[in-house]
Amino acid sequence: MTKRIAVMSGDGIGAEVTREGLRVLEAMAGKFGMATEISHFPIGGVALDQTGDPLPPQTLEGGREADAILLGAVGGPKWDTLEFSLRPERGLLRLRAGLELFANLRPAQIYGDLVEASTLKKEVVEGCDIMVIRELTGGIYFGEPRGIKGEKGARVGLNTLVYTEPEIERIVKVGFEIASKRGNKLCSVDKANVLESSVLWREVAEEMASQFPEVELSHLYVDNAAMQLIRAPRQFDTIVTGNMFGDILSDAAAMITGSIGMLPSASIGADGALYEPVHGSAPDIAGKDIANPLASILSVGMLFRYTFDMPEADRIIQSAVVATLSKYRTVDIQGPNTKTVGCGEMGDLVLQQLAETSEPIPVPAAH
Ligand code: NAD
Repeated sequence: MTKRIAVMSGDGIGAEVTREGLRVLEAMAGKFGMATEISHFPIGGVALDQTGDPLPPQTLEGGREADAILLGAVGGPKWDTLEFSLRPERGLLRLRAGLELFANLRPAQIYGDLVEASTLKKEVVEGCDIMVIRELTGGIYFGEPRGIKGEKGARVGLNTLVYTEPEIERIVKVGFEIASKRGNKLCSVDKANVLESSVLWREVAEEMASQFPEVELSHLYVDNAAMQLIRAPRQFDTIVTGNMFGDILSDAAAMITGSIGMLPSASIGADGALYEPVHGSAPDIAGKDIANPLASILSVGMLFRYTFDMPEADRIIQSAVVATLSKYRTVDIQGPNTKTVGCGEMGDLVLQQLAETSEPIPVPAAH
């Protein structure tokens, strides 16, 4: 069956890195004999310039109809002074909300020689491979009531942290499922010593554990989790947590690996899946062909793994990236005894590595 991919390159380096990601996607689809239908949709600043809306209706619809979305990045100084509802970033938030992408998957993995890029000691981070799963559509970022109110002469800033049982169940289920395909260790992070929403979170996670007997469930308070991530990151396999804790911990975990240009992500929901680099549109280097496309390429690996259930394809892409990095780097991850290459050339080199892998590889029976 033909797989439909919606490509939303967006702004700045979004177009440059997505082009390389897409080339890898097409090469891997060819290798696995998978038919794809690729459609392009504007999002962010480019969409605003074209249509007056950072998320035109046809882009949302295109995302909804696709099996998966490959996104670049949105935003840039040109649009920074616009009112909030017109900002490019608002288009991306509306896309995530519109497709109810409730699970954000952020791997933090050290790729081979890149261990030197981490600010932590080599012996602490070497071999690190963590998946942080962040709840993305609930919690304190969305809870009502909220706002800034004037009361008795002094303003009050108010936000509300709410999690319903079904919201907790669906994200913790994703946590268990992913842990069961990785190292069978799930750490649920909360603040159950202070917050009732966390007490419920912990109870629900415990109640679900019997459905996944192969997975060892543990709990950590978020402050301890932050400390442990920096102290001994290798103790973690899969982490599942709420929106705000996940926002902070996923960035902390990501930086263990050193470079923002290497970080892929997936946002998965009831009605779609979105794959994108963690980085933004990097206006400072846009148009110079020096951006690192590996976050986009690794996001394509996640797309194969999670939307098409083809972990083998992800493994092949990751191997090609590691092999390429041993000899070539983009400027952001320059290293000794490696040649510095541009964005397009890095894409060429990964494709060359992929071509050297024996082919064709049969599509798994279920697909
Ligand atoms: P950024 O991630 O775009 O850039 C931060 C720094 O990292 C810059 O110095 C940049 O050159 C570098 N960098 C980022 N990606 C790189 C890559 N692939 N290769 C090499 N270097 C890379 O963050 P920012 O500067 O805070 O934001 C710039 C714009 O991007 C803003 O408009 C912001 O709102 C937007 N943004 C969008 C997303 C998204 O689309 N998901 C995420 C973050 C920021």
